[in-house]
Amino acid sequence: MRFIGPHVSIKENISFAVDRAAAIGATGFAIFTKNQRIWSAPPLSDESIESFRKKMAEKNYSPSAVLPHAGYLINPATPDEELRAKSLSLFCDEAERTVLLGLSTINIHPGAYKEGDRKDGLRRSARMIDEVLSAVPEIRIAIENTAGSGTILGSTFEELDELLANVNCKERVGFTLDTAHLFGAGYDVKNKATAILDDFVTRFGKEKLFGMHLNDSKVPLSSKKDRHESIGEGLIGKEAFKAIIQHDATENIPLILETPNEERWPEEVKMLLEF
Ligand SMILES: [Zn+2]
Ligand SMILES: [Zn+2]
Repeated sequence: MRFIGPHVSIKENISFAVDRAAAIGATGFAIFTKNQRIWSAPPLSDESIESFRKKMAEKNYSPSAVLPHAGYLINPATPDEELRAKSLSLFCDEAERTVLLGLSTINIHPGAYKEGDRKDGLRRSARMIDEVLSAVPEIRIAIENTAGSGTILGSTFEELDELLANVNCKERVGFTLDTAHLFGAGYDVKNKATAILDDFVTRFGKEKLFGMHLNDSKVPLSSKKDRHESIGEGLIGKEAFKAIIQHDATENIPLILETPNEERWPEEVKMLLEF
């Protein structure tokens, strides 16, 4: 089974996200667990949680088809103590929301180390991941690869491996691979999608691929930039996505579109499901 669908809005009520995904024929989807632009949001109401879970069951979505994305304010690698405390508290809150919604895994960016030593940044990021895992025993964390601009960590498999090596509770940590970020970081997804996934599996094992973000790219290979494009409209191209969908490692994990043109989502989902 391939769980394919976009990152949908949670506007008005988080349970509407399920309707939005179902309306376009998605077999999986992503959400934010709260408004991602603010540090604190009111807790999810019991009614919203109940309604989200009920719709998931009614529309036949397995919890493993849904991958919440943690908010962009969180920087697990920050050297700033105050930002670190706020990031940790928000990350724990979002992990708790994920569990309350009946879901298992939350997606996080490894963060930017800003200044000082890169290795210290990786250690700080790993430490925060461990802290969230101890605070929320039911959660799993999917670390997303990045395009690697500036001091942003996690743009190569080597660095993701080093980050994981710094984590104590490794059993509950895996990765999300974003195709546009891979391409920006210098992985030639256009021509070598199968080989790149094979490399990942050889290094980490298939079970460590917790999800993927399927995005075409507006910017060239090795640009270190992150500009998503609709599938088939960018510099990666359709064939690469076909190879990804047909790869063993993408079975039964969320494959999420974060493509810019919402109107194209139904046809993108349909095309990918037919691969
Ligand atoms: Zn992301
Ligand atoms: Zn991106």
